[in-house]
Amino acid sequence: MDFELTEEQRAFADTARAFAASEFAPHAAQWDREAIFPREAIARAGELGFCGLYAPERIGGLGLPRLDAALVFEEMAAVDPSTTAFITIHNMATWMLGTWGTDAVCAQWGEHLTAGRKLASYCLTEPGAGSDAGSLKTRADRDGDHYVIHGGKAFISGAGATDVLVLMARTGGAGPSGISAFAVPADAPGIRYGRKEHKMGWNSQPTRTIDFDGVRVPADHRLGEEGEGFRIAMKGLDGGRINIATCSVGAAQGALDAARRYLHERQQFGKPLASFQALQFKLADMATELVAARQMVRLAASKLDAQHPDASTYCAMAKRFATDAGFAVCNDALQLHGGYGYLGDFPLERLVRDARVHQILEGTNEIMRLIVARKLLDGDADLR
Ligand SMILES: Cc1cc2nc3c(=O)[nH]c(=O)nc-3n(C[C@H](O)[C@H](O)[C@H](O)COP(=O)(O)OP(=O)(O)OC[C@H]3O[C@@H](n4cnc5c(N)ncnc54)[C@H](O)[C@@H]3O)c2cc1C
Repeated sequence: MDFELTEEQRAFADTARAFAASEFAPHAAQWDREAIFPREAIARAGELGFCGLYAPERIGGLGLPRLDAALVFEEMAAVDPSTTAFITIHNMATWMLGTWGTDAVCAQWGEHLTAGRKLASYCLTEPGAGSDAGSLKTRADRDGDHYVIHGGKAFISGAGATDVLVLMARTGGAGPSGISAFAVPADAPGIRYGRKEHKMGWNSQPTRTIDFDGVRVPADHRLGEEGEGFRIAMKGLDGGRINIATCSVGAAQGALDAARRYLHERQQFGKPLASFQALQFKLADMATELVAARQMVRLAASKLDAQHPDASTYCAMAKRFATDAGFAVCNDALQLHGGYGYLGDFPLERLVRDARVHQILEGTNEIMRLIVARKLLDGDADLR
């Protein structure tokens, strides 16, 4: 067991840190304030390979292990969790397309997606099917060599600004086994986008509902076999949960760094805040929680890379722990800034708002507990 990063892994992280410092740091506050989707900055991330980090080489992806991808996401999220989280969702959807897509689908979109010239959304949630995603109602009915899609999705990240929708829809009967996955052109006739949602955070990426009214897609746009869609969606989310957990670790690192600086700069009672032991202990606890979260995420990523039978359980545990710990660290860092932490002049309030949603999406933290508890109570999990 080696807890040290390799030279190559450090180089990935250094490249991502430098990229985030030059491309995200000067603009992140404005993107958040004005709800600007930074399409050009994302394309430049694509030029470095960051839009297809673990996508298969077959479509121009780097095919990296999840652990290496996490190192890149963490550095970018320390500066801008919202934009980074969108890039992670794009990576997840691109990996799904490249892993289960037909040659035709891969030829049409693959290299454009991994290069960041085109973007992908992941479309699972519906107004009536959130945590219970297996009950989704959007239908894809076979009509000759096409499928015809009717229904609606909710909370779709990037919707309206992306080029391809990785869509889960029902081709069979009730339950998860009746669901199939598709790659759908985002501008296909019959697709209608809702208004841009007003959100607490994640403002640098649009979130919209999508309606499908008789949308026709060729049968070769199906990903995998009929009835395999829910399994594919969950496979995507195993990695997605590591990614979102990583965005929380990154946000927490950004917040901790800001707090460390501020404790030295700010004076009260004639002394720097750093001299008050209560605040020193707070900082020590924040750093400890952060390192524990980071190690847990890396453990889950390595389990996924090794295709460990309990990888999904580790991913759920890491997502729950790191997103809770990451939010708490961001919030504590805001507290250490006093009233200034609450102002838009410092990044803390943005980091807190951005990190909050990580406890909700890609499966809520209650659903993460459900996944872990089921595994424990079934009695076949060996988590030693
Ligand atoms: C900003 C944002 C972006 C998103 N992006 C995407 C996206 O790109 N693609 C996509 O498909 N989805 C996306 N989502 C949707 C997200 O995954 C869902 O919001 C999430 O899965 C929860 O579903 P829900 O909102 O319907 O809540 P519900 O399922 O209605 O849950 C409400 C509450 O009940 C709890 N609960 C539900 N069932 C149980 C249970 N059995 N036991 C205990 N507690 C339970 C939940 O944890 C939660 O606290 C996004 C959401 C947000 C907010």
